Amino acid sequence: MSAVNKSALFQKLPSTDEVLRRPEMQALTQREGHAAVAESIRAVLARLRQEIAWGEFDEKALTLAVGGLSAAVERELRQSLSYSLLPLINATGVILHTNLGRAPLAAAALERVQATAGAYSNLEFDLATGERGKRDVHVDRLFRKLLADESVEGHSVDGVSTIVVNNNAAAVLLALNSLAEGGEVIVSRGELVEIGGSFRIPDVMSKSNATLREVGTTNRTRIDDYERAINERTRLLLRVHRSNFEISGFTAQPGLEELVALALRRNLPLMEDLGSGALFDLRSVGINGEPGVLDSLRLGVDIVTYSGDKLLGGPQAGLISGRADLVARMRSNSLFRALRVDKLTYAALEATLLAYVKRDHDAVPVLRMMRVSKDEIGRRAEEIVSAIGPDQGKHLKLELVDGESVIGGGAAPSAVLPTRLIALTHGELSADELCARLRANVPGIIARVEEGRVLLDLRTVFPEQDANLTAALASLG
Ligand SMILES: *Cc1c(COP(=O)(O)O)cnc(C)c1O
Repeated sequence: MSAVNKSALFQKLPSTDEVLRRPEMQALTQREGHAAVAESIRAVLARLRQEIAWGEFDEKALTLAVGGLSAAVERELRQSLSYSLLPLINATGVILHTNLGRAPLAAAALERVQATAGAYSNLEFDLATGERGKRDVHVDRLFRKLLADESVEGHSVDGVSTIVVNNNAAAVLLALNSLAEGGEVIVSRGELVEIGGSFRIPDVMSKSNATLREVGTTNRTRIDDYERAINERTRLLLRVHRSNFEISGFTAQPGLEELVALALRRNLPLMEDLGSGALFDLRSVGINGEPGVLDSLRLGVDIVTYSGDKLLGGPQAGLISGRADLVARMRSNSLFRALRVDKLTYAALEATLLAYVKRDHDAVPVLRMMRVSKDEIGRRAEEIVSAIGPDQGKHLKLELVDGESVIGGGAAPSAVLPTRLIALTHGELSADELCARLRANVPGIIARVEEGRVLLDLRTVFPEQDANLTAALASLG
């Protein structure tokens, strides 16, 4: 198409004002406001101009498009005013899926957010005295209860303080800056980890103004390596949990007890970045070797850092628990003010912690998902498959197979939970096409693909979502 023709086409496009004056636009303007409608008209016209420039229109096609302008503007407006952050059905079986928002909140947490965040609250107000209060008190008292530990011999875990910041990355930054600014922190080369989303221990260390003192080798570090590296500039010994990987083969890593003993002997604090930090005994769901917050504090670690939205199952937050004098230094650091969290987080965290205090573990969705049995998952899967019927549509084939769910979120990287999966294949659609269809469902359904099959794991699907999932599968035909 020639440039002359194109300029004739451009002239056929109405102006924004002309479109605004159309009768259909008047009603839309009254409903959604002049500014929003005008912006949508400009967006639609700009798109048409672009398409003319690309040579996608002849005169007839353009006349048609101009005739359909009002409908296009309405669609554009609806899209620009709709939500971008949407609820999904997680059928991946990854309980703590960072891309899918990690831990879904407990019902009680949502209720508390609703009750306190839409009103004024005593976030920093002492109701007894009528004076200014501290926001920490709302959850510190519950952490004290959960982390108090009369029954165990050895180090006393009494008097543990906890503060809350934006996430665990912030917790590590604040702790390192408060305890080791201008000095050295000793870390094993086998623990210089990177967690997804560009959290790298060496980077956080340099941002905190502490100097990383690496010891040992990637696969083997001994307690002597730490001991030899201690000098007058040493401020802290750091242990980092290998959240998302394992080192196997010819390896050595000193036990936490040895590090505690060394820290005591040399009068240095010992900090452990746990990452996931369970407040719940994972051994009860068959997962061994994943350290809990209480395990570390009992052994004598001075400071532990962990996430609120990983194994704890609460809102995004970074928790710092440990020796009161060290936590007090962090609280008085001006970085704490920059990294502190909002009332929404305190409301959700307090309700989540109360469920732990009441030992109501099934009230916390991620704990419930970890505890649900393979048999129960299998029963629900069978119900879905039989609801779709023996013919299962023309092309869709459903099977039940054994499989494994994972915890995710950098917890217990090699620990898996046995599960039953619904495996989908389709006569006319590839596995990727099936996944795209499932993502287009409302709410979107996220599945995984293995060996050409789409696998759905109901461990991470809420039972009340089963009906929607069934309908979505039935519609695949
Ligand atoms: C997940 C994780 C972090 C980062 O925590 P966020 O809450 O995502 O900021 C840091 N350290 C370890 C060991 C982790 O597993």
